[in-house]
Amino acid sequence: MAIHSESQSVTTTGVVTAIQSGSVEVNLNGTALSCVLRGKLKREWQMVTSLVVVGDRVTVSRTPDGLGVIEEIHPRRNKLSRPGFKNYEHVIAANIDQVIIVASVHQPPFKRNLVDRFLLLARTLGLEPILVVNKVDLEDERVIRAWLAPLESAGLPIVLASAATGQGLEDLGRLLTGKVSAFAGQSGVGKSSLVNALFPGLQIKTQETSWANKGRHTTTGSRLYPLPDGGYLADTPGIKDLALWEADEEDLSEVFPEIEALAGGCKFRDCTHVHEPKCAVRAAVERHELDPARYRSYLRLQQGR
Ligand code: GDP
Ligand code: ZN
Repeated sequence: MAIHSESQSVTTTGVVTAIQSGSVEVNLNGTALSCVLRGKLKREWQMVTSLVVVGDRVTVSRTPDGLGVIEEIHPRRNKLSRPGFKNYEHVIAANIDQVIIVASVHQPPFKRNLVDRFLLLARTLGLEPILVVNKVDLEDERVIRAWLAPLESAGLPIVLASAATGQGLEDLGRLLTGKVSAFAGQSGVGKSSLVNALFPGLQIKTQETSWANKGRHTTTGSRLYPLPDGGYLADTPGIKDLALWEADEEDLSEVFPEIEALAGGCKFRDCTHVHEPKCAVRAAVERHELDPARYRSYLRLQQGR
């Protein structure tokens, strides 16, 4: 009785913006369409919870009565995931381009090792990091720039912003356009204030997105919010578990290029820069050529703490 005309139907590519029970919301050229999965995929979906996730690119066909049918899920460029039930991988979102790490100058105070930690996570996940230092209205800009100097010379894109005065918002808006971005950062740094100041009409129901907050658990689903000039904001539930993931050497040296450069001068190739003799990194700290706070932050992350 079912009449299929798959061969003739017109297909469009869209982006999954939300997963509802039994249906998938897809953004097709700016319009949200509730879709079902093609039978074959649907059976698979019952076995694999992460078959289709927020951020997935999908091919959608339309039935004569306007319903959307997901025909195909495209390969993922990257994914945010965490161990789920019985340690099966639970994918939270796919194809995120960049992570906006938000820190504040005061309230809560700026903590560079927390920023380093977020940076390392971003690298581990294959996401481009951008640092937004919010609440710059609360401190002399020269003081802030001094804190950021080592990060700046490591090549990290940094935006000095204030949701209160509007400073930096234009720059931040430009960086978000056309990209899929996730915001991360400690609670209270101003993530929702920044998003609300940038996109007053967006109506994001903010969830706990902090990677640093321990002991909190949210079960709400992820969602992508289309931005007015293209791109999306990803609102993902507490992905704190990702913090447990181990970073590898390579990620660490990307976050600390100045330490990587010095390490070439250590006596031992596998020097950990903790106790070995003739360590060029420790020597640089002693000569005040390497910021001791950077060095401590490096050691902490190297040891997974
Ligand atoms: P979130 O938890 O990261 O989403 O932080 P919120 O957006 O809820 O902001 C936390 C607090 O910081 C609120 O009381 C805001 O009014 C305040 N806040 C946010 N941005 C700024 C800013 O640029 N300057 C100042 N002085 N306060 C801010
Ligand atoms: Zn060394």
